[in-house]
Amino acid sequence: MKSKKYIWIHVVVALIVSLQLNAQEKSEPIPAVGLAIKAGSNFERIDFNRHAVGENDIEIEILYAGICHSDFMVRGAHQHVVPGHEIVGRVTKVGDKVTKFKKGDYAGVGCMVNSCGHCEYCEAGKEQYCKERTVFTYGSPDRFHDGQITQGGYSNIITVSERFGINVPKKADIKRVAPLMCAGITTWSPIKFSDVKKDDVVGVAGFGGLGHMAVQYLVDLGAKVTVFDITDEKETDAKRLGAERYVNVATTKDFSNLSDTFDFIISTIPADYDPMMYVKMLKMGGGELAFVGLPPNSNISISPFVLQSAHRYVYGSLIGGIPETQEMLDYSVANNIYPEVEIIEAKPEEVDKAYEKIDAGEVKFRYVIDMRTIEK
Ligand SMILES: [Zn+2]
Ligand SMILES: [Zn+2]
Repeated sequence: MKSKKYIWIHVVVALIVSLQLNAQEKSEPIPAVGLAIKAGSNFERIDFNRHAVGENDIEIEILYAGICHSDFMVRGAHQHVVPGHEIVGRVTKVGDKVTKFKKGDYAGVGCMVNSCGHCEYCEAGKEQYCKERTVFTYGSPDRFHDGQITQGGYSNIITVSERFGINVPKKADIKRVAPLMCAGITTWSPIKFSDVKKDDVVGVAGFGGLGHMAVQYLVDLGAKVTVFDITDEKETDAKRLGAERYVNVATTKDFSNLSDTFDFIISTIPADYDPMMYVKMLKMGGGELAFVGLPPNSNISISPFVLQSAHRYVYGSLIGGIPETQEMLDYSVANNIYPEVEIIEAKPEEVDKAYEKIDAGEVKFRYVIDMRTIEK
């Protein structure tokens, strides 16, 4: 009798110890490697830690990470930052309370990794406008994890709250999914906001990573698409993706035939330009211009008179909320809409070279880094 009791005590102690070990294992930070950059230097491989997998978190082995033009901002950072907010990978671990994912699923992560979850914007699924501040995927203090600065997707692994993971269907063309997480949602969101319909006359200003996604969504919706850019070279691609008309704004002298003709124009231009040219092209009585590109000098001016006298609308749009990102991803996969990508290896010098080419305007649409090739 005595020895039986003794065995039971042992079993209980062993159980408690193993539970504690398990909990400890789960709360340990996760070692990661990434390609980082800071002011005055090139990319280099760094070791760092991801936060542990909490009960509502998932761990993702990153397969591919897209290079977005806005990643370039980290070149001015004081300390090493791993950029990248176009991420897709495979779920390798799930917290106890996770319901959206199971191990082995594909998951995407975009520009955000956390938010308060209860303000009016979070409740409406517009986490990008969180009143208590959105935690962005890199370079952002993560108040849910001791204020640690977040590191992005040019890495082998990431942990994220499941709410910010996007379910990627198994049949998706996984190599081309990553850029949907920023370029896709950034263009999809205003197209939906402005409720573009079949036969609407629409324009896409700037035909790069964002622009070529906008063209594909607009063509798919049955709109009549005109593309504006500053070179003749992009015309073939624009028309191949379904644009009806291409306008080289650098060589066109007179735009008067385009005045008052567009229901909707999306500007993805990341350089300085005069937006009034596009405002005047909007139809009077409801034409809408959406800004999604970020010119370096943001002090662009718009004449209130031109808006007021003709009831034209101008607005800006920042990425999209999580429910909308899921909707965009499902739609893109179902309708076979993907970015055009060039895959590169996860070597610092390869990423440096890609940045140089993007700077020189020599990239066709999107570079995607194969993160499985990073040196572990
Ligand atoms: Zn981006
Ligand atoms: Zn919030």
